[in-house]
Amino acid sequence: MTNFKDLGLSKPINDALIDLGYQTPTPIQEITIPQILSSDKDLIAFAQTGTGKTAAFSLPIIEQIDDKSDATQAIILSPTRELAIQIAKSIKDFTKNYKKIETLAVYGGANIDEQIRSLKKGVQIVVGTPGRTVDLIKRKRLKLGNIRWLVLDEADEMLNMGFKDELDKILETIPEQKTTLLFSATFPKEVEAIAKNYMRETVELSAGKRNIGAENVSHEYYLVNERNRYPALKRIADINPDIYGIVFCRTRRETKDVADKLITDGYNADALHGDLSQAQRDIVMQKFRSKHLQILVATDVAARGLDVNDLTHIINYKLPDQIESYTHRSGRTGRAGKKGISIAIITNKEKGTLTQIERKINKKFEAKKVPGGKEICTRQLFSLIDKVHDIEINEKEIKDFLPDIYQKLEGLDREELIKRFVSLEFNQFLSYYENAPDLNGDRSRSRSRSDNGSFTRFYINLGKIDKINPSHLIGLINEKLRERNVEIGKIEVLNNFSFFEIDKNYTDKTLDSFRNFKHKGRKIFVEIAEKPKSRGRDRGNRRKRGKRRRF
Ligand code: AMP
Repeated sequence: MTNFKDLGLSKPINDALIDLGYQTPTPIQEITIPQILSSDKDLIAFAQTGTGKTAAFSLPIIEQIDDKSDATQAIILSPTRELAIQIAKSIKDFTKNYKKIETLAVYGGANIDEQIRSLKKGVQIVVGTPGRTVDLIKRKRLKLGNIRWLVLDEADEMLNMGFKDELDKILETIPEQKTTLLFSATFPKEVEAIAKNYMRETVELSAGKRNIGAENVSHEYYLVNERNRYPALKRIADINPDIYGIVFCRTRRETKDVADKLITDGYNADALHGDLSQAQRDIVMQKFRSKHLQILVATDVAARGLDVNDLTHIINYKLPDQIESYTHRSGRTGRAGKKGISIAIITNKEKGTLTQIERKINKKFEAKKVPGGKEICTRQLFSLIDKVHDIEINEKEIKDFLPDIYQKLEGLDREELIKRFVSLEFNQFLSYYENAPDLNGDRSRSRSRSDNGSFTRFYINLGKIDKINPSHLIGLINEKLRERNVEIGKIEVLNNFSFFEIDKNYTDKTLDSFRNFKHKGRKIFVEIAEKPKSRGRDRGNRRKRGKRRRF
């Protein structure tokens, strides 16, 4: 088996790698390290997050850095601040036995003067986001005269994020006699254009599309109705009490929405998306890294650069548009020798995408059933019992309280005590899942939800002529009811009036809420309307769950 020494890296680097626990090179490292060490030709490498690409480009650069010179010799561009910081940190780890090699991450949102001061002291390797790098070049603070390597890391992502102008600027300005190393997971035409316009005599390398952890990831899917997507997510979380995972959504809005619902429903979750300030994103990521958060709901872009090795689950709340993104997402679990599960919650419409993904990753998804209430309660209960069993008892701290506690519980035998403690922890959970409906399958072509009798149909004298559409109506209902998560069924907006359905438990509240309501000076009436003829089947009880404690 090849080791790092065989690839041509010297002892100080090897020693650092041993300390980091890197025993053998990954496939991409095996091919890029000798190439970059032996040639100054430009390089295009296909590699995804999780393949070990950071070391693949930085180790051979470090090996060749002239540490007698203070000049900046390598610039590494990365799409996000988090990734830049992470790359710089890895390089610092790799160079720990080279006291004279300095590395600096430069990125927006941080004090530029401080970065300039650090650059002045002499930094051989600069890792930057495109915007801040251009800024420093323009101010002539980042000197380009001695640049020998320019690395474009996650080139496709930088272009996706709209950094084309910045990349053009940097590539035009940096002297020609440098080696450009382009790393990209995909090769869309925008990346091709960069390669064509700015790179010459390129060598193309690919070490297969496998992530380090891909072998350990199993892929599963749950087929549900669109409206059961969120309830299915909750059940997946509930059946995995120790879940530590990322739920991927497609838009910022969806991310926020799903995270808000999870938080309201008592889960230890938070959102990571582009609408948050950098400081807010830092806080969320820190909470997640330190495992103070169990579930992170994120967009693909926002989750970039979040390097966490022991995720148990990746959940695709919706499958991504680009199939490559699925590989990125799922490659975030099953790392460092651990097993990981990548889950897709899909509707009938997304079956085609799933098949395309299966072809691409050359693996089959296993069809899973959304667990039922009994199964979830059993799992949660036993998880709780295991925790009680394994908890470390702090004799010193509790000893003073014990005599009084024993006295209070006197007369309760062991069985009785166990029953009471389980009930205390569990009654709310059991009642939430009592009569829980089966969420499996997508019968999306089935009829209006009022068919099952769990909705009341209302008439309202507002319609298209009042410039009302279904989303206005939903907004209005939410505003008037002042209650989150009330199920709204079918909405029909007609010319002069509209119909809407509300969970029948809220019938009186709806009527009350709209009493004496005026819209643009006109009195608005909301009345119970006759239901259309019932043809559907009973879908069972939909109970809304109260806030409960997570274990
Ligand atoms: P990257 O693709 O560079 O983001 O690396 C993914 C993860 O794999 C990081 O946590 C690295 O520390 C780790 N890694 C990279 N190369 C190796 C290696 N040769 N052996 C073990 N772990 C590695």
